[in-house]
Order: sequence, then structure tokens, then C-alpha cells
Amino acid sequence: MIKKLLIVLLLIVFLLAAIILIRTFSFSSRQMQLAATPAPAVSESALDHFLNSISFKTISYGDSARLDSTQFIGFRNYLSDTYPLTHAQLKREIVKGYSLLFTWEGKNKELNPIVLMAHQDVVPIEEGTEKIWSTDPFKGIVKDDFIWGRGSADDKINLIAIMETVEKLLQKGFQPQRSIYLAFGHDEETFGSGAIAMAELLVSRNVKAELVLDEGGMITREKIPGMKGKSVALLGTSEKGAMSLQLEVEQPGGHSAMPADETAIDILARAVSNLRDEKFEARFSLSTKGFVEYLGPEMPFVQKMAFANLWLFRPMVNSMYEQSKEGNAMIRTTLAPTIFNSGVKDNVVPTLATATVNLRLLPGDSSSMVVREVERRINDSRVKVKIKSFVREATAVTLPTSLGYQKVDSAIHLAHGEILSAPFMMIAATDSRYFQEVSENIVKFSPMVDPIGFHGIDERVSLESYQIALWFFEQLISGC
Ligand SMILES: [Zn+2]
Repeated sequence: MIKKLLIVLLLIVFLLAAIILIRTFSFSSRQMQLAATPAPAVSESALDHFLNSISFKTISYGDSARLDSTQFIGFRNYLSDTYPLTHAQLKREIVKGYSLLFTWEGKNKELNPIVLMAHQDVVPIEEGTEKIWSTDPFKGIVKDDFIWGRGSADDKINLIAIMETVEKLLQKGFQPQRSIYLAFGHDEETFGSGAIAMAELLVSRNVKAELVLDEGGMITREKIPGMKGKSVALLGTSEKGAMSLQLEVEQPGGHSAMPADETAIDILARAVSNLRDEKFEARFSLSTKGFVEYLGPEMPFVQKMAFANLWLFRPMVNSMYEQSKEGNAMIRTTLAPTIFNSGVKDNVVPTLATATVNLRLLPGDSSSMVVREVERRINDSRVKVKIKSFVREATAVTLPTSLGYQKVDSAIHLAHGEILSAPFMMIAATDSRYFQEVSENIVKFSPMVDPIGFHGIDERVSLESYQIALWFFEQLISGC
């Protein structure tokens, strides 16, 4: 009897191993096989233009009254002086005062146009940190093979690389098959009003774009476990949503010498603690599934096996993701308490306690669904849950089989040899989320390699990144 059982057990193990191995070996590559041409050296003038662009303090403050119009107008004039052919041959419209929308007519009106986006504005230098910078943040300089300065990585590299490429192609007498729009917002870091207005303008003109390309994912050689040293282009195909909820508890207050069993603070603290105790369900969004399908086959054997057999290894893979904050944010809606307010005096039990929780929504989790879930978890009618601000649903997901995605994918393969690419979900937001009515195919990708100091101190991109960016946009535009 025991022997029989053992044989059955062995058979099951054998069968399982066979299924796992067959699935692993048939988990085949989806990478494009294209021969790249080495990128030409960056010309001195192209480098100067990038460095000069950094000197314009096109800063977005939270308060729009602080916007320094002379910097934005100066930057706009700089662009028209630097790229005369572009300004002579493309139509330029100024939208919302400072955003720039260029239209480059294509030869073939039957083809849907494409939209290339970048933003002019940069985040401020946090007060008191100027001294920590190794260079003047608004003086573009080259040091240690990097281009330093605020906006170098976010997002002037894209804006200048696009302008350089268009100007260069115009010099050669090139006209694209499809019409190309260049949409350069001026307040991406705050309100996105420029991008919203440009998107509305295009929708009002019935523009249906084959592709909208904006900043987003990058080329990384460091960040993907198991793939260190390999170049991987991450093409953002969706963005998480965001929402802030206000939790409010009102209870009779009084003297702290005779406290009630439960005070407003107790009730609210328990509510927040209940919310934090239970995580939202872990799930692979369509973008993350794409990431697995495109990168899994390229990974070392053990990871490849796990990704090829998610039906079995899902719990293990989830716990791998959960090991880092970033990984955890990729697989679920997250919730973080960010403001907690109550009480004014040592010996007074307050009547009111409020808290703000900030949520980032996984594609597929709608804000209304998440609010219901928050209420269910709190399960206490004394805690009022209200939407405070900042509601943004997660975006739709761009399919990697779409023509728009494929154009970006082939351009990066043509521009950079030995590169892998994969869809992925953006945790941060970009202006392109306002363009969902303009196109179903929105790709969020900045063709640069592991920039440093994004939104922080010593922001910089490598010279190599700029070279790749220029070559990438040339492949993309000339293939349109
Ligand atoms: Zn940006």
C-alpha cells in the first residue's frame, strides 16, 4: 500500500516537473530582432542647445501666481532662434499662455498622426538644498560624462532631442508620412493645464492619433533583479490612479481628567490602523502581465521558470515583489496616511479628529470601488469618509501589439543595440494621461539610461543618454 502511494506521489512530482519544464522551455522570446545602427556622435551644437535649455528657470511652483513668465517666454524665444526651420515649416500654436503645440503636416493624410510630448517646466530646487548641489542647478554643464542641471532628465532631454531631430530632418528635406504633433506642456509638474488644453484642442479637431509618446519609463541597466548589466527599455503602458480621502470623527470632547472610553482620536486611530492592517489584493495589471511576458523569457533560469509558471509560483512571485516598496506598489492599490490632525491643548479631549489617506489605484480598481472597500474595512459609522481631492482614475492600458507601441519598440531597438524591452505600469503620473481621448495607444518612455537625481539633488543624465535620445527620435520620426 505504502509502495503504491509512493509511486503515485512520484508520478505526480514527475508530472509537475514535466509541466514546469515544458512551460519554461516554451516560454519564448518576444523581443524584436532588428539590427541597430550605432548612434552618431552628438554634435557640439546639439550639446550646447541642451545645456543652454537648462539655464531657463521654467519652474512650476504649486502656486501658479509664482510662475515666472519671462523664463517661459525666454525659453520659447530661445527655441525659435535655435530651431528656425522647425518654426518656419511647422505650425506653432501657443496654448494656455505658455504651452507649445507644433503641427508638422505629413504626406499621407489617410494615416493617423502621432503626438510627441515633453514638458518645459521643472520642479523647484528645494529651499536650503542649493548648497548641497555639486553644480549650479540652472547652469547646464558637462562633468564626468554627465549633463548636470535641473530639468536635464525631467524633461528637457526629451524636448530638446525632439527639436534637434525635427530640425535635422527638415535640413535634409524630410517630410514624414504621418502628420506629427509636438505637444510641450508648461505645467506638468503641477496642474497639467497646458496638456489638458492641448488635448482638448486636438479632440475638437477630431485628431485620432496612432501613438502618443510622453516621458515615463527609461532604459535601465541596474533596476531589474536578475538582469543587471543588460539594457532594458521599460515602455510605460498605463499609470496608476490617485485619490485622497478625508476621514473625520466627531465625538463629545471634554476635560482630559474624565475621558470617555473612546475619544475621537481613539476611533480615528483605530480606523487608520484597520486600513493599514489589511493590504489591497495583489494582482498583475495588464501592463505587469506584459512585463512578465516580454522579460520573463530573457531572465536567468529560476526567474524564467517562475514567470513561465505563475499558475504555481504566483505566491512566491508576489512575495518577491512585496520585498520592496516599489515592487509592492506595482502589484496592488496602496494606501498611506499622510495627514493626521486633532487636539489643541494638553488637558482637552478634542471633539474632532481628521486624517487624510492617499491612495494609488491599480488599473482595474476604480475610485468608487476603493472608497467602498475603505468604508468596509473601517466598519464604523462614526468615521465619515469623504473624497478630499485629487481623484484620478488609473489610465487605460496600451497593448504591446498596437502599432503605436510597436513603433516605439522598433525605434529603440534600431537606436540601441543589444536591448530588451517590455511594457510596464507607471506608478508616477505624466501629462499623457490627459490624451486618452486623442489615442488608445499612449506610450510613456524617455530614451535615457538610469538618470540620477530625478526631482532631487544633482539631477543629471549621461552624455550617452542624450546620444541615444537623439538617435531614438530620429528612428521614430523617420519611420513615421
Ligand atoms: Zn516629467
